[in-house]
Amino acid sequence: MVTAKHEKRDKHFGEWFRQMLMDAEILDYRYPIKGCGVWLPYGFKIRKHVTQLLRNLHDAKGHDEVQFPILVTEANIRKEATHIKDFENELFWVTHGGSKPLELRYALRPTSETAMYPMFELWIRNHGDLPMKLYQIGSVFRYETKTTRPIIRVREVSTFKEAHTCHANLDNAETQIQEAIQIYKDFFDACGISYTISRRPDWDKFPGSLYSIAFDVLMPDGRTLQSGTVHNLGQNFSKAFNIKYETLEGNHEFVWQTCYGISERGIAALIAIHGDDNGIVLVPKHAPLQIIIIPIPHKESGTAILEVCSHIAAEMRSLGLRVKVDTRDDLTPGAKFFYWETRGVPIRIEIGPKDLQKDQAIIVRRDTFKKEAYKTVDLKTRLPQIIDQMTIDMRNKAWKWLQTRIFQVDNLQEANELLKKRAGIIEIPWCGEEACGHELEEHVKAKVLGTPVDSPKKIEGQCAMCSKEATSLVRVAVAY
Ligand SMILES: [Zn+2]
Repeated sequence: MVTAKHEKRDKHFGEWFRQMLMDAEILDYRYPIKGCGVWLPYGFKIRKHVTQLLRNLHDAKGHDEVQFPILVTEANIRKEATHIKDFENELFWVTHGGSKPLELRYALRPTSETAMYPMFELWIRNHGDLPMKLYQIGSVFRYETKTTRPIIRVREVSTFKEAHTCHANLDNAETQIQEAIQIYKDFFDACGISYTISRRPDWDKFPGSLYSIAFDVLMPDGRTLQSGTVHNLGQNFSKAFNIKYETLEGNHEFVWQTCYGISERGIAALIAIHGDDNGIVLVPKHAPLQIIIIPIPHKESGTAILEVCSHIAAEMRSLGLRVKVDTRDDLTPGAKFFYWETRGVPIRIEIGPKDLQKDQAIIVRRDTFKKEAYKTVDLKTRLPQIIDQMTIDMRNKAWKWLQTRIFQVDNLQEANELLKKRAGIIEIPWCGEEACGHELEEHVKAKVLGTPVDSPKKIEGQCAMCSKEATSLVRVAVAY
């Protein structure tokens, strides 16, 4: 019996990940511009389910979807000083219209604050217009100078969901931050992805924000991938873009803003967390195809087998499941197993002559390769249960694994040793001083992720760097 192995994935993650994108036909990264890739039909279908989940989660909390232009004027991109300072070296510029140099050049949006907020100024008039909660899903562009990697570090982020909200006061903005965190938790939970939530240190917050909170996903190679961020912008941008509203009392106040983003890195996490050496493994919810039915050909009963297969397919379809019978006659059943395993189809149903005699079908779960025979008449009730159980098991497995890769230590030496072997995420006592944070980063050659938001523990003891009283734990990891 096949069992799920993770050797290739864990030892040569980068190579495995690239191979998966090609083998499972998710993304072709051979496009002739560095940092740009092409979503293939199968990958695009996965992307469609993931973006639909994001849409549903945002719509359910009163957000509206919009679409802004990709071009931003230079004047607007320069309006918020710290923002432009951070993005300056990553901007793509449009400098010509045809052969004529443009008098005023345009930037391709690196994120959409500076595209959206000039319009917010026009749209928001009084307290009745607040809160305003908008989001869009589209491309943003960053001239990455570091090594690019498909989906993980790219120049065209092609699936950027960014939400932008405006509020009457700081309290309401804070409540929105909590809502955003919950939306992202729901998103990752639905994908069965484990994560940590940390408040980024001040030196690493989103340029122009009061503070940033980030979801980090630990990859199989022990490096973290920032996979979602939530920012409280305070009034920094509303002052720069003059976004004011009239209060009940007739005063004119600047709005308070938040923004939060998730990109196709969510899909990278989905592939990385669940995949194995046989291919990707999709959570049933996002699988373009949830069930593949494979008839085992047989001389005498071949036609009868095919009939049962299409009958089962029709039944599954009536339950709203995405199902297909693989009737290709140029492939052996073994080759078909391999084909669909690579693509991560959650459930395989096999029906051969013996099964036909016994009125049964063989069900194989993609995550465990567990094989079980069920009576054909029971499939309608059993398969939805198996799919639910599989979703729960995949999520639990991801969390269990993460918990074995988070280490609490109280000294730099131990942190260093663990990070050197890419053990995972280290939590270490910290006094909260920036100097100690930088010392930590230098000492362990890794990145401070910030202080825990998901499990804020009371901490007694000393800062591992300066021996002053520690105020919190701080997380540090080798990050993508
Ligand atoms: Zn310290």
